[in-house]
Amino acid sequence: MFHDERIPDRKPPWLRRRAITPEVWQQMKSMLDGLSLATICEEAHCPNIGECFHDRTATFLILGRICTRNCRFCAVQHGYPQPVDDSEPQHLVEAVQQLNLRHVVITSVTRDDLADGGAAHFARCIKALHRNTSATVEVLIPDFRGDETALRTVVEAHPEVLGHNVEVVPRLYPQIRARADYQRSLRLLQRAKEMRPSLYTKSGLMVGVGEEEQEVIQVMHELRAVGCDFLTIGQYLRPSPQHYPVKEYVPPEVFARYAQIGREIGFRGVLSGPFVRSSYCAGALLEGAPRNA
Ligand code: SF4
Repeated sequence: MFHDERIPDRKPPWLRRRAITPEVWQQMKSMLDGLSLATICEEAHCPNIGECFHDRTATFLILGRICTRNCRFCAVQHGYPQPVDDSEPQHLVEAVQQLNLRHVVITSVTRDDLADGGAAHFARCIKALHRNTSATVEVLIPDFRGDETALRTVVEAHPEVLGHNVEVVPRLYPQIRARADYQRSLRLLQRAKEMRPSLYTKSGLMVGVGEEEQEVIQVMHELRAVGCDFLTIGQYLRPSPQHYPVKEYVPPEVFARYAQIGREIGFRGVLSGPFVRSSYCAGALLEGAPRNA
């Protein structure tokens, strides 16, 4: 891949997205606010929010809106975290019922301040959803600082899909994810699968941050080697001028190539495209029929 300093200032034509209408925004916001629920769609400034909210779907952000880490690509606020809301599992159930979701994705801020990293809260949310709805549950979890007991707590709550993003190729961790550890993330995915082989595991990668194609392919192989079932690859978009700069707008044909390679090396499902995010079309990906990204 090449890197031209001028390119990131000019968004290419394939990076245009449907805007959210005020009516849809109002409907979703009043439902979410009424239940005191946050979404990563809003907190991370996801470019797909118009499409997803219009389809009455969202990815819920549990354990507060403030993250204890400070990754340079992420728009979520960081700082001193909020108390855990014990009513959150029940509120999630109500939201899933109101939206009539068949597949629900839950993620969280990283809570390095909690002894279990928030694992027990994840488990409570999963169990409440299974008890009270027929939705399949996908959790996108932090690394729990490598704590296997915390991981086991989540795995034993029986989500249908356990996701953990490697986010970027390992060479770029020191600049972009200083407090994360690529090997630890691979180990988490491997251990989750060993703990419950029928569990689907999933990971996500952002491109356009200065990686080479060969490095992306290497990550794909390493994810497959730890049994990862599903993979998402999307274009990094800088949330603000304070965040890590975009190095390249990766063209659609490169995303298509990644998808092809991913399928050839054995992923059960791959979604690769400029606007793909780890929760984008998550239900369809699980069912094996994602629409074009
Ligand atoms: S892709 Fe995921 S995070 Fe983005 S708007 Fe859709 S559900 Fe929300």
